[in-house]
Amino acid sequence: MSQVDDGLHLLQVKSLVFELSRRLNSKQMGFSAQLQTKAAHEALLSRQDAELRLLETMRRCISNKVKCDKDYATALSSISALGQKNDRAEEMSNSLVGRAWRGMMEEVEAAAKLFRSKAEIIEKETLDKVNTLCQEKRKARKIYLEEYNRITQKFTNICDEVNRKKSDYQKQLESYRFMRSRFEEYYVKSGRGGRKLEDVQDKYQRACRRLHLIHNEYVLLLSEAEQVQKDVKSHLLPALFSHYQTNLQSFIVNWRSIMKEISLHWNCASKQFVDVWNRSEAHVETIVPANEYVDLQQKQMANGTDYADFTFDNSLVEDTSGKLQANTLTVDNLTVEWVRNKMLEVEPKLKDCQERLSNKNPDLQDMNEVAIAELRCEEKKLTRQLEVIKKALTELGCEEAPPGCDIPLNPLLDGSQEISVDSNPEIGRKLSHPSPPPPPTQPSFVDILRKPFRRKSVPSSPLGTRHNQGTSRSLVDEDWFHGVLPREEVVRLLTREGDFLVRETTRNDENQTVLSVCWGGHKHFIVQTTAEGQFRFEGPAFNTIQELITYQIQSQLPVTGRSGAILRTPIPRERWELNNDDVVLGDKIGRGNFGDVFKGRLLATNEEVAIKTCRVTVAEEHKRKFLQEGRILKQYDHPNIVKLIGICVQKQPIMIVMELVVGGSLLTHLRTNASSVTTTQLINMCRDAAAGMRYLESKNCIHRDLAARNCLVGDKNIVKISDFGMSREEEEYIVSDGMKQIPIKWTAPEALNFGKYTTLCDVWSYGVLCWEIFAKGGVPYPGMSNSKAREKIDAGYRMPAPDGTPEDMYRLMLRCWEYQPELRPHFDQILNIVENILGTMR
Ligand code: ADP
Repeated sequence: MSQVDDGLHLLQVKSLVFELSRRLNSKQMGFSAQLQTKAAHEALLSRQDAELRLLETMRRCISNKVKCDKDYATALSSISALGQKNDRAEEMSNSLVGRAWRGMMEEVEAAAKLFRSKAEIIEKETLDKVNTLCQEKRKARKIYLEEYNRITQKFTNICDEVNRKKSDYQKQLESYRFMRSRFEEYYVKSGRGGRKLEDVQDKYQRACRRLHLIHNEYVLLLSEAEQVQKDVKSHLLPALFSHYQTNLQSFIVNWRSIMKEISLHWNCASKQFVDVWNRSEAHVETIVPANEYVDLQQKQMANGTDYADFTFDNSLVEDTSGKLQANTLTVDNLTVEWVRNKMLEVEPKLKDCQERLSNKNPDLQDMNEVAIAELRCEEKKLTRQLEVIKKALTELGCEEAPPGCDIPLNPLLDGSQEISVDSNPEIGRKLSHPSPPPPPTQPSFVDILRKPFRRKSVPSSPLGTRHNQGTSRSLVDEDWFHGVLPREEVVRLLTREGDFLVRETTRNDENQTVLSVCWGGHKHFIVQTTAEGQFRFEGPAFNTIQELITYQIQSQLPVTGRSGAILRTPIPRERWELNNDDVVLGDKIGRGNFGDVFKGRLLATNEEVAIKTCRVTVAEEHKRKFLQEGRILKQYDHPNIVKLIGICVQKQPIMIVMELVVGGSLLTHLRTNASSVTTTQLINMCRDAAAGMRYLESKNCIHRDLAARNCLVGDKNIVKISDFGMSREEEEYIVSDGMKQIPIKWTAPEALNFGKYTTLCDVWSYGVLCWEIFAKGGVPYPGMSNSKAREKIDAGYRMPAPDGTPEDMYRLMLRCWEYQPELRPHFDQILNIVENILGTMR
């Protein structure tokens, strides 16, 4: 609102107050005079209700305003705290702007305090008053209503009585008229005599008497009623109204003072607030721009200037046999084009810069000092660059640029892509003339490559047809071809300098053949395909990949000049790397996280196996996780651990081949056979699991997902631990990549809370597994969500024993669920305990 509006508003309020008091004085307005009717009484009551509602609304608004003010105060406080926080406080300690700002922020805090204290006063005192007023008004309304009803009831009663009397009077009159006419009738008929006439006459006289009596009663009652009406209307009700009016007006006095109090505390233009903002303004006034940097200048005057060191680091060129010189551009057949292009790039830039700085440039006058200084710097920089380039080119003169690389390269080649673990791909190098491949010098490698076929060739495979031109052998038949074996696995296999293997990978939906070599780390080269369908790296092209690899081995030339990688020892597939065609898939027997599980057969031995497949569409990262299980399992051999037969990575889909455990998952087995399984059988299952886990513990393997769903049941109910997808071969394993997909109800508290996994976490899960076994496939912590179970465990809760659990077995479960991992038994102890329990059952 503007000031003019404010003034107008104030005038309006004043004139309204004046008008009301004038009306009051002149008419002596009072309820007793004005509110005589029932309708008026009802209007008065409804007005009271409206007032009570208004009071209630007011109370709510005040509470909300108090909350807002407190929130605002809190927000102001945190703004003030934020404003005062300065991690470079020392540097700004003498700054006028800094000091003024600190002052302003202190005032913001003072304002916060004011808002808070005023809100608290309203909350503690004013709100109380509103509540009291509300209660008192309600009480007064009740008393008034009771009194009003009592008084008006009197009047109503007498009115009812008058009506009743009148109706009795009318009835009596009827009866009198009837008796009179009968008497007259008999009197005429019987001629003044007879018993009947006497009788009629008697009745007539009695009716006449009753009529006269009721007449008198009626007269008296009317006069009484008239008096009651006069009393009620002229004395009782006016007295009640007048009393109530006095009451209500005293409430209005209170009400007005409450509202005054509120507007006083809400007044942000009060002196206290004005003082705060004035002080804040005064802080700003202390800023004198000319003095702001005085202290900084004084402090820094002593320090001089500091420059970065741009001296060439000589160690960078130590290894280049003098081809690269410190601070000198190298101009050779690899760089000459680049240097010339650079000169063509810099020259026009310099010219443009000079033109813009020349006096002929009309825009120069409009430029500020900084822009001009910048242009001058740019000119200097370009001039210097051009000098260096020109000097280098001048030194070359008209001579042909010398070779930059020791190995002459074929200009037709666009370079093989090298994916190195520590460098970027180098693509598209065009170098000098090709040199013919040198004659074979190390026949021993050829011998290695010409070993007899280890497996039957599979001419129908796409790889076979693609790479098979000119040779009867398919690439998949080569021992050193590892199919789609993931890079991690490859890296594990290549341990000595010159170790190599060939594998397949998919990039941008395209299959690529990759040569992986151990040479100063692990290097991976994509085999390039020429337009004619031949294969090569940086050297000559061959009809088959086998010929290309043979050439690299025989020539002992680096695969690429840059990498220097030389092929020495082909690394053959491991025993467990099967060919996809070595197995025949049968019926589906389960569904895993990565794909379906099938029953199948090993072609070579006809042995029945279980085959876990990994869907082709899952991400590379998950394929790695999938194979992790195979990598872990291949080292283990124990009757209670499911056996790995091999992995098939020659092509998609990748598969893990395992011994077939006929009973399938332990969880399903327990649920299906719940009614028939005996306690001894259940303890035996716990024993098998403990034996498997003791073996794993001895191999430093942490399973991390031990549960009935991850155990299999074989012949004679033997239990085998399976599903090593989450396993780790470490004594302690700390999870750092979040806790996604953690089997909460099976996982030990320290693993959930700190991501710390040890064998003792498997012990906890073993306790839950035993519980599942005795609950015959029941869900642990029945009826509890994961988070509830976790919360309860932390609070000390442990599951009760399922029905029929031998006491010793339950005691063992409780020991496995000790909160402190150190207090839990290890698996060798567990196995002993379970075997002892079994002994007592026999
Ligand atoms: P994932 O580890 O991908 O979750 P699982 O190992 O749990 O897969 O296998 C899923 C299901 O396949 C199991 O519940 C079980 O029924 C069946 N299964 C897995 N491995 C075998 C096996 N070696 N023998 C028999 N059935 C198996």
